[in-house]
Amino acid sequence: MKILVLNSGSSSIKYRLFDMTAKTVPASGVLEKIGEAQSRLTHHTRNRKAEMEEIVTAEPVADHRQGFQRIGAVLSESGAVQDNKELFGIGHRVVHGGEEFKEPTLIDKKVVDTIRRLIPLAPLHNPANLLGIEVAMQSAPQVPQVAVFDTAFHQSIPVQAFRYAIPQDLYEAHHVRRYGFHGTSHYYVAKQAATLMQRPLKTLNLISLHLGNGASATAVKGGISIDTSMGMTPLEGLIMGTRCGDIDPAIIFYLKRKTGLARDAVESILNKESGLKGICGVNDMRQIEELARNGNSNAQLAIAMVCYRIKKYIGAYCSVLGRLDALVFTAGIGEKSPLIRARSCQGLAHLGIEVDADKNNRKSKEAFEIQTESSTVKILVIPTNEELEIAEQTLMCIQKLPRPE
Ligand code: ADP
Repeated sequence: MKILVLNSGSSSIKYRLFDMTAKTVPASGVLEKIGEAQSRLTHHTRNRKAEMEEIVTAEPVADHRQGFQRIGAVLSESGAVQDNKELFGIGHRVVHGGEEFKEPTLIDKKVVDTIRRLIPLAPLHNPANLLGIEVAMQSAPQVPQVAVFDTAFHQSIPVQAFRYAIPQDLYEAHHVRRYGFHGTSHYYVAKQAATLMQRPLKTLNLISLHLGNGASATAVKGGISIDTSMGMTPLEGLIMGTRCGDIDPAIIFYLKRKTGLARDAVESILNKESGLKGICGVNDMRQIEELARNGNSNAQLAIAMVCYRIKKYIGAYCSVLGRLDALVFTAGIGEKSPLIRARSCQGLAHLGIEVDADKNNRKSKEAFEIQTESSTVKILVIPTNEELEIAEQTLMCIQKLPRPE
């Protein structure tokens, strides 16, 4: 039973093929620089010895339509999918589902129109996601397609946490509220945490920290998101690679007045030139750790600020959860940076959070625990797998469909 997961960006399409019966990934890849003179397709597939092999090809791919055909061709050439008929379904990552989508949804014309209507809420992401959907629907019309939304998991957040303290009509007329993102990842690691702890998810209070280029914290009570750090857009909350996270909103008006910068320029600074990059000029945490070790004070400050912000959110979410069973670190930095994990938890013994230095320094591709014996809260490092979660949700959504007579 094969499911293809697509994550369509403005100039790229990421894909991963799952065999849900064998629980394997027969192929995956990314097509980048769509529309540029030389597009690049990196395709991973199993060779005759069942080893993963990387094939890189460079050729012009004019648009997403050609891109999807190219991916179809390479999946067929490598024997992963001979014919679209072999696909049980296609799962699409969609960034913003607004208040309309609370769960994975089978895509039809009405769904496409609703995702289009939500473009003003996610002008950078939804148009590209939509393009991927439309192209895939045209290229494989007989395959059921499912939209899995980054925002859906957070639709359970109660009103006192999702409303902003601004006039009510701005919420009602313009949908200004907290939506939250990375929902697929937070949900996936919450389920993994429950498996690891051998306890039903329904009984657990968790804080998950998705720390990648984009970063967010979520308070998960009984498997349900009750608060998250990203807001109406992914700009709010933790300090990220190039996004500022929480700032005083008045800074925007001050900057416009003081510098004469246009609205778009300020928006671009806060999204693309801030965060780690704004503090120390670099947004790759590996490089920042290296610079900090070599005495670069801006890199040291960036690490201090990132960890301080994470710590503040841990404290806040401990308060809203009441009791904390586990703290989960995931995504690039969360999974691979012992330094950030340790510094974010430093001084939290009074909350029952204590990192064991040796366990924390372990390297593993599997999930592992890093708390001390005396820590009452489990501290878990869990590799995220958003694509697998999308594949599973796609499968469940299609299986719920009434069978044809
Ligand atoms: P994205 O949001 O793009 O999916 P990732 O989850 O891949 O991001 O995370 C990217 C971040 O993880 C980068 O800041 C990168 O430097 C960081 N990272 C990856 N490996 C390590 C490592 N070994 N140590 C510290 N940071 C790492």
